[in-house]
Amino acid sequence: MTNEEFRKHAHSMVDWMTNYLNNVEDYPVLSSVKPGEIKAQFPESFPEKAEDFSKIFKDFEDKIMPGITHWESPNFFAYFPASKSKASILGEMLMSVLGTQGMVWLTSPAATELEDRMMEWMCDLLGLSKDWTGSIQDTASTGTFNALITAREKASDFQINAKGFAGMPQYRIYASEQAHSSIDKNVKIAGFGYENLVKIPVDDNFAMIPEKLEEAIKSDLAKGYKPLFVLGALGTTGTTAVDPLESIGKIAQKYNIWFHVDAAYSGAALICPQYRWMSKGIEMADSMVFNPHKWMFVNFDCSLYYVKDPQALKQSYSITPEYLKTDADEEVNNYRDWHIQLGRRFRSLKLWFVLREFGAEKLRVIINNHIEWAKWLEKEIEKSDDFEMLAPVPVNLLCFRFNNRKMNEEELNAFNEQLLKKINASGKIFMTHTKLNGKYTLRLVGGHPELTKGHLERAWELIKKTSK
Ligand SMILES: *Cc1c(COP(=O)(O)O)cnc(C)c1O
Repeated sequence: MTNEEFRKHAHSMVDWMTNYLNNVEDYPVLSSVKPGEIKAQFPESFPEKAEDFSKIFKDFEDKIMPGITHWESPNFFAYFPASKSKASILGEMLMSVLGTQGMVWLTSPAATELEDRMMEWMCDLLGLSKDWTGSIQDTASTGTFNALITAREKASDFQINAKGFAGMPQYRIYASEQAHSSIDKNVKIAGFGYENLVKIPVDDNFAMIPEKLEEAIKSDLAKGYKPLFVLGALGTTGTTAVDPLESIGKIAQKYNIWFHVDAAYSGAALICPQYRWMSKGIEMADSMVFNPHKWMFVNFDCSLYYVKDPQALKQSYSITPEYLKTDADEEVNNYRDWHIQLGRRFRSLKLWFVLREFGAEKLRVIINNHIEWAKWLEKEIEKSDDFEMLAPVPVNLLCFRFNNRKMNEEELNAFNEQLLKKINASGKIFMTHTKLNGKYTLRLVGGHPELTKGHLERAWELIKKTSK
């Protein structure tokens, strides 16, 4: 492709993108293709001869688009949103044309230095103390992995990195029963052994019971284990429950345990000072993770990992082969030492675009609206004879179910499962589910930057109508 051909295709693609954004609500939110249907459209062998780009793009429209579930639709109420914004899309376009690898300062000084500044801006915006410093990661899973490795290395005086686990104490990791599954995966891959992940019970609001944490720690100490790490959730994935960070922090300090806060989703609400009750006690944490790629309108991927002691993080990961040494090493951040990967995308660019194009004021208004509208819907559900709430609503996620008080638990579970299938098959909205205390629970969360209360009103009407 010549540069002029690139110009032509890029222009027509931007037109396509704009039309897509205009018409996104006309597509069924959830793709209805059957497993294997998309793959079967592609030939079994690759093209030997170059193909015309217009033909490739036509296939994208005809063969790929039917297999897309529209995360970009304001009627996407499933999982957690991975909301993006136009400013962020433009940032991604530039990232891609520059193709920057920001592994060390020298490989693109702007990538490192804009990232330094964005991490400071975000620290302020979230109301965190200036003691924190950090870097942009791909995902929260990686951030939590970094925390586990650093805790491990600090506790073992960097001996596990050097010699492995032999002769080391049996470390114990604590998280609530409602913590995100990334802790389970990370405990396995960080070498601790899955049996050493201790799940702490939760209260009626699905938040960790700190007394149970302390009991577990004491019991482990009595058995000769070494308590190492506790994860507190600032917003769980199931229900956005907020663990009592202050109490957890005090316990962590008392027993000298690494305290990591997972604010992957709900961290966005900290932009609004009125929701900072959730982060009370966070200053006691050693590390925290927050995903602007979920509810802060930055394209996936963009996850912020903050630490109090960057030295321990760097010492855990640092490897400096000859070919990566530069003259600037003493004066700058070489972010390759702040995570697993060597190569790194220029993610701060899209974050910078979003922060400037929205401004903090508008971000606060949007996030606050999402929460207010969710609280409105919570009241509607509570008022209704046929539905009930199953968890509190600290931010914008609603956990509820159909319950006309005429069925037993088993029948209710079957009914709600069918109800969700019917709602999603309509293509008008897409929701997902969880199980809370054995109850099949419908989950609805609206986090698109262009979401209106009308979207939620229409979703609620559809849910009620489908349940009849
Ligand atoms: C989504 C989520 C994660 C995992 O996020 P990734 O960035 O996809 O790894 C972790 N914790 C919580 C609370 C989440 O909601």
